[in-house]
Amino acid sequence: MKSLKLMLAALLLMAVALAGCGNPKESGEEKNSANKEEQITIHHIRNATEVVEYAGKKFLIDPMLAAKGTYEPFPNALRNDPNPLVDLPTSIDSIIKDVDAILLTHLHYDHFDDAAKTVLPKDIKIFVQSEADAKEVKKSGFQDVEVLQEDTVFEDVQLIKTEAQHGRGEMAVAAGSVMGFVFKHPDEKTLYVAGDTVWYEAVQKVIDTHKPEIIIVNGGDNQFLQGGSLIMGKEDIHKVYQAAPDSKIIVVHMEAVNHWALSRKELKAFIKEKEMSSNVLVPDDGEAYSF
Ligand SMILES: [Zn+2]
Ligand SMILES: [Zn+2]
Repeated sequence: MKSLKLMLAALLLMAVALAGCGNPKESGEEKNSANKEEQITIHHIRNATEVVEYAGKKFLIDPMLAAKGTYEPFPNALRNDPNPLVDLPTSIDSIIKDVDAILLTHLHYDHFDDAAKTVLPKDIKIFVQSEADAKEVKKSGFQDVEVLQEDTVFEDVQLIKTEAQHGRGEMAVAAGSVMGFVFKHPDEKTLYVAGDTVWYEAVQKVIDTHKPEIIIVNGGDNQFLQGGSLIMGKEDIHKVYQAAPDSKIIVVHMEAVNHWALSRKELKAFIKEKEMSSNVLVPDDGEAYSF
């Protein structure tokens, strides 16, 4: 048991900062909302990188911006290709242009990489999960780093830190801490970004408490050869659907880094089988939705 633990810890250290997904397209899933000028737009970039336009502000979540094949593959994984497995679907300039704030769920490199550290303006607002992460991010030269709280307000958008668990048992410990968050605004639908988490009671609690109409989950079932899922697989996604059957659920973090285990194709077949098609969306890289 101890050696498994040590191995996992070593793997995670090597990998700390590795993971991913993607390729481009555009679609408008749902045009809704009462003639509000400020629609919510969720533009899925690749892996867990999302551009979210919410209440007139542009947020960039978990930027991994390197070109295909830049980083060593995660060891002890299902395949051995360098990461990310695919290129960005759009230019870095268009991703980072006019961003008001960045949100980092944690610092694994498939969520915040060297390319992002290089291209992002050093005075941009960045929200992180902890003082430890803030310290780390500041080391890369960023000046305006804030630890997200349960009552953070940015401009007039409420940003609520939520619990997340990066695997189960020893794997969750080895993978380290991670957060999710909820976006709230009186004129907007509530958006929940779950982060690198498996399904567990805290996710249910966030759904019950905040009743998000839109939920983004990381669902590529990424894992090493031992230790189990690091993020959601299809059964976890089904649980999210059962907890929030009327919400739109967007599944990302797929097919972008070498330890993914659930393909979009397999997930789509499962969604059909469980009759979740109207509410569970699986974007290609570059695809966007408006709500
Ligand atoms: Zn990840
Ligand atoms: Zn991670």
